[in-house]
Amino acid sequence: MFVMANPESANDPLTEHDNLSSELANLEKQFADRKLKQEEFEVLSKQLRDRISRLEAQAYGMARKDESLAKRLRLRNYNDPAVQQVVAHYIRTGGRPLEPEFGADRIPRYPVETEDSDKTMIGQPSLQRMADMGMLTESMFERIVSCPNCGVPSNVFQRFKCTQCGSIDISINRMIEHLQCGTIHQESVFRVGKNLICPTCKKLLQGAGEYRVIGVVCSCNGCHAHFEDPAESFFCRKCGNDFSLPKAIIVDVQSYSMTKNALDEARRFMGVNTLSQILVENGIQVRTHPVASGPNKEVMFSIVAQKDTKTIAVDISQSDTEVDVEPILELYVKTLEATPDAAILGAVPTLSKRARDVASLHNILTAEGRSAAEMARKVLEIIQRI
Ligand SMILES: [Zn+2]
Ligand SMILES: [Zn+2]
Ligand SMILES: [Zn+2]
Repeated sequence: MFVMANPESANDPLTEHDNLSSELANLEKQFADRKLKQEEFEVLSKQLRDRISRLEAQAYGMARKDESLAKRLRLRNYNDPAVQQVVAHYIRTGGRPLEPEFGADRIPRYPVETEDSDKTMIGQPSLQRMADMGMLTESMFERIVSCPNCGVPSNVFQRFKCTQCGSIDISINRMIEHLQCGTIHQESVFRVGKNLICPTCKKLLQGAGEYRVIGVVCSCNGCHAHFEDPAESFFCRKCGNDFSLPKAIIVDVQSYSMTKNALDEARRFMGVNTLSQILVENGIQVRTHPVASGPNKEVMFSIVAQKDTKTIAVDISQSDTEVDVEPILELYVKTLEATPDAAILGAVPTLSKRARDVASLHNILTAEGRSAAEMARKVLEIIQRI
């Protein structure tokens, strides 16, 4: 009844993922056609969905060590509105790193700039996935302690306790040495109002150079025990769990940046899925592996479209302000190698005047649009006229 995943692709989580996704679609269709009972459908579709999400997790984990898998994941994800929103933040802010903000629940959320300098908060898991596939780079920002019992960081407090009775009602006293006479006592014995006065020689300690802090002595206000290092633990006020560091769940909180290379790739590919969808819907063939062969080597474009016998190479470039001349020149150089019948540069949101001049000088056609969809429709119009 179901198509089994091809055993040869068992090592490739993306191929297997796609096979399972089409099995799931198949199953949904059978259920819609009333060829499956509700119960059977629910059990089977849950199994498939679980396997799909395990494969996804596996693919993102493997992508950290496998650049070709990472790139395939990136190319799939440039179409995702959430990914586009994050990339747009880096384009808009000139690459400003995303640093977390912690709300009352102490869960990190990242302020992503949107149009009109508004912002929207994004959770760490989406950024983590973008880092897995190599779009973003992480650096350690903070660590938070979560309760191992209820899994929540919001009510965890660090505790310093009496080593004898476990009370948290302890006094922590610094031990001070008066350097001139050698007297060592607790700070509270030196303390007279705002001043420190030596209990032995009665001199006023005026500068930090006249004494040194040699350690800490704790005393318990409950059982009056004295000790140097208090016992440390964490306490969750939400569920009453008292736990030690080895039992704590410690979560790394990262800040995220986007390298210039990653940003360049995103600028080029973000509109590709939109463009290929619009072209295919209008009966134009699109090569998924957008390579055109030249006499000496293969060159890669954002998309290669085929209309009747004509080959049309399209590159896409996105900018926060206007796309300048570099992508035009790059496309021109590639057309010398691959000699397509026509070359189009799709620019979001607009081209600089110089870029337009250089394009017309080199017979590069141009399509500008405020969004990828608008640019894609203009590319379609140009191709239909060719
Ligand atoms: Zn708890
Ligand atoms: Zn005590
Ligand atoms: Zn003294």
